[in-house]
Amino acid sequence: MIEHVRALVPGFVEWLGPLLFVVGLTMIVALVPVASVRSAARRVDPTDHWTVQARFAHAARVAVVWAVATVPAGIWLLSTITIGPVGWLPAWLLGVAGAAFVVLVVARTSWWLEGTVLRQPVPGWSRFLGGFLVRLVPLAAVILLGLAAPDRLSSPWMILWVLVALIVGLALRFQLDLLVAFGFAARADARLSSRVGRVAARVHLDEPAVYLIEHHQPNAFAFPWRGAVAITTRAVEELSEDELESVALHELGHMAEPASSSTVRQVLQFVWIPLVALKPILGSLGSTGLVTMAVVLVGLLMVVRRFASSMEAKSDEHAITNLEESSVYGRALEKIYRIGFLPAVARRTTHGPLHERMEATGLAADFDPPAPPPVRTLIAATAAAVLVGLVVFLAPYVATAGADLSSPTPAYVALSLGSYGSWPLERLGQLADVEGDYEAAEVFYAAAAESSTEPDPLVDLVYVRSVLGRCSEAEAALTGLVEREAWRDDVAIAAEWVEWCHREWDGGL
Ligand SMILES: [Zn+2]
Repeated sequence: MIEHVRALVPGFVEWLGPLLFVVGLTMIVALVPVASVRSAARRVDPTDHWTVQARFAHAARVAVVWAVATVPAGIWLLSTITIGPVGWLPAWLLGVAGAAFVVLVVARTSWWLEGTVLRQPVPGWSRFLGGFLVRLVPLAAVILLGLAAPDRLSSPWMILWVLVALIVGLALRFQLDLLVAFGFAARADARLSSRVGRVAARVHLDEPAVYLIEHHQPNAFAFPWRGAVAITTRAVEELSEDELESVALHELGHMAEPASSSTVRQVLQFVWIPLVALKPILGSLGSTGLVTMAVVLVGLLMVVRRFASSMEAKSDEHAITNLEESSVYGRALEKIYRIGFLPAVARRTTHGPLHERMEATGLAADFDPPAPPPVRTLIAATAAAVLVGLVVFLAPYVATAGADLSSPTPAYVALSLGSYGSWPLERLGQLADVEGDYEAAEVFYAAAAESSTEPDPLVDLVYVRSVLGRCSEAEAALTGLVEREAWRDDVAIAAEWVEWCHREWDGGL
């Protein structure tokens, strides 16, 4: 079928369109978010107070996360290319190559941000990239899950897909083991383990398994469901013994959470499933489903934040009440925020503002509470994402706008942007239709119907075949329309066309 379409489209279109598509969209997908990281990073002035530096550092780090979030867009965009200079490559390979490019560019930007701008003790490039990639594995699993989702909620594969999604959700708990497997985390030595063990014994908790995570930011984590506590190498290097113990007490506070909390935690880790099911939700429910899903998701995320905030407050309290000198914990917190450039006041965080956390330990903050990090970067990155979305949505229209409507022999000059997907083909069909070139319109509509599982192109196909007097073929398209569960009104209109075809061309039924 593609060969028939090719005969109607000038050869250069197959090269020029895809080339513009690859170059233009790679720029948008990879470079615009990176540019926003760089612009935020430029505002980190080493002569400023650390709280001011941390504000901009946070904005730049958020932009890194946003840049990574454009990876699915990169995969999807590039995998739609089926013709042109790179069209001979399998679509999945193009998608993977695009994703790898974006990830590499973003990782390099992040390495520059942490090492050069924020003067963090980052490892060499290849080691940094390794850690960056291992931490992306859960995201990659979730993206693959989203791409592998069935087109419709009514699909028989949907049950299997949900099961796989639940398994992936459970597997995401093994992030620490993933770091261990790739050599970015290991069991702590006996000295550190026994220190944490002694602290645990003091608050009547089981001795946790203690892990050391290789990272340039000071931090600590609790994994209550598997009885483990993890501390980063930077925290161990920078914190005094007492400070380390006070941080361990906070993490042990998470281990002491009641069973009901851990149940809530487990349930809440599946809130992202509706987001990953975007494809079937859009396919079956359209924009109504999209809006409903967005509202539900925002509501759930608010619940998650509330819950996590209360758990953090309880853990801070756990550290404070179990310390002889609670200000040690306040000093440890101040140090962690200061050397790691964490914003002292942030908009959406589960931990309260630093000065309040410090005051709770009886220690007054020696800085004025700064304003939260600027949202400018976020706005710029969101604008970039919306731009990508718009280009994707409008591409078929832009692509076919060049069709020469006034020419007596329509050229169908369409910068198909590398894709013979159903949408541009449908547009080309409509243009041919307007020209009165029904034979060409039939070829485009048939190709559109073949390249998608949507019923829409079939509606056009029934009509144009009826006009051409190819009634039995129109009837075949009508059958396909019913099979694809088209809207009842569409089926009725198509049936009328078939009827008209028989009346007009076969002299009645
Ligand atoms: Zn905590």
